[in-house]
Amino acid sequence: MAIGTATGWDPFVDASPEPDDAGLRRREELAFVEPARNLDSEVRESVSRSIQSTFPRPVAILLEAFVTWVSGCPHVGQRPLVRRSKLVYTVEAFGGFILFVALGAVAWRTGFWYLLPLIWLALAGRGWALFNIFHHATHQTLFASDRVNRTLAFWSSIISFSSSLDSYRKEHIQSHHTRAICTYDDLEAPFMPLGFPPGQPKSFYYRRLAWLICTPWTYLSYTRYRLWDWQRNDPWLRKGTLWGFAAVLVGLAVGFHQVSTLLLAYVVPMFVIFNVTGLVGTFSEHHWGTLIERPARLRMVLLLQSRFLLDAAPDRDQPRLRRIGGWALWTLRFLCYHLPVRVAVLPGDSMHHDHHHRHPRTEQWTLSTFERFEHVQHGCPGFHDYPHSHAWSLGEAIDRVFTRMSAAAPPPAAVLARRDAEAKARQQRWQRLRNLAPGRRAGRLPPSTSVPGAPVPLHRTATPRRGSPRPVLGSDLD
Ligand SMILES: [Zn+2]
Ligand SMILES: [Zn+2]
Ligand SMILES: [Zn+2]
Repeated sequence: MAIGTATGWDPFVDASPEPDDAGLRRREELAFVEPARNLDSEVRESVSRSIQSTFPRPVAILLEAFVTWVSGCPHVGQRPLVRRSKLVYTVEAFGGFILFVALGAVAWRTGFWYLLPLIWLALAGRGWALFNIFHHATHQTLFASDRVNRTLAFWSSIISFSSSLDSYRKEHIQSHHTRAICTYDDLEAPFMPLGFPPGQPKSFYYRRLAWLICTPWTYLSYTRYRLWDWQRNDPWLRKGTLWGFAAVLVGLAVGFHQVSTLLLAYVVPMFVIFNVTGLVGTFSEHHWGTLIERPARLRMVLLLQSRFLLDAAPDRDQPRLRRIGGWALWTLRFLCYHLPVRVAVLPGDSMHHDHHHRHPRTEQWTLSTFERFEHVQHGCPGFHDYPHSHAWSLGEAIDRVFTRMSAAAPPPAAVLARRDAEAKARQQRWQRLRNLAPGRRAGRLPPSTSVPGAPVPLHRTATPRRGSPRPVLGSDLD
């Protein structure tokens, strides 16, 4: 495999395509050609040069640390200013979650309701920070004690209403971290259940994403999964605790006449905002359903990306006024776009997901920012032929995923047939239920809310997945 980070990289430059489907294969391969900016850290270096030439050294050091924290990418030679331990990450996740629920309640009760959107973003982010803790407990890379890891995973999944450690372990370790990754057999893959079949025009994926974010049915279905579908087959201790926790929250809110506080401090951020951040996180993380026929190792390294959050510094050679305007825009995007994404969508090490997949056992995940950067600079141990790749904004990361999904082959007939059978079975169940309801006429199907003008609604044929803490919303969204 040829690596050419100066001009970009075509991972398939040496591959000889099959003669019968050479055109289609090459179309998909070309979508994986990486421009140099997605392999190197020149964007970060441009910002670093400006900071270092503008500010005195102590200020520059602090600014560089902040930019590195937000962007996920250090500059050459940078060392971490503070080293947060796994314990600190854990306390931040749990403590931050409780703090922002309390702040939401106080803001609502004291008339500072206009601060709620900011608090919701922060709380959604703490929900994902709890998921990071849960995820590393699943991998046994949190603490040495299995008992401690299980306890932390248990409580993080209770207060954020996600699935249990054992059911997630089945999906994540035994399926997602195997050769099934991002295929139709990946138990954690949400692309088919959510209605994102590969091989569609990119505009279809954007419309579908917007639809899922805008329709209330999405959130109602997701709430059902979190309260019922993901829990019902777990041991009674767990589901009793989760349902008891929900009952206590509702009971206290009703008893103390604080229903609006419960809704605005807990339900909206954790069942609406959290859901939106999960959707954009999911579709910026992996190139779902692509390169299906390629070797497992090749797929594992190519279907992942880091999500850095930074714009290049404005050109220093342009006229002064334009440069000032450029920096104003850069600052606006940094504070109002990249920073909220870092807080609400990609806290902790979630932005370096490719690093986690390549080195799940050896990574020091609390230092993934610096560990991964070392691999960008000096090669990735065990994967020297495959440089790490990254997008430089959440929007760019989503666009890369949709570009590659669009260039991929559509789902095979067997997958469509299986999903069709599942949809029919579900419709029959729904019909039987409606026939049981008094005053209902027999034979009506569930209301359709599919995307206007969308191709065949494959998402209707999928089965809701149990156990994923990612917001896997299931097929019967619509
Ligand atoms: Zn993992
Ligand atoms: Zn993954
Ligand atoms: Zn690496």
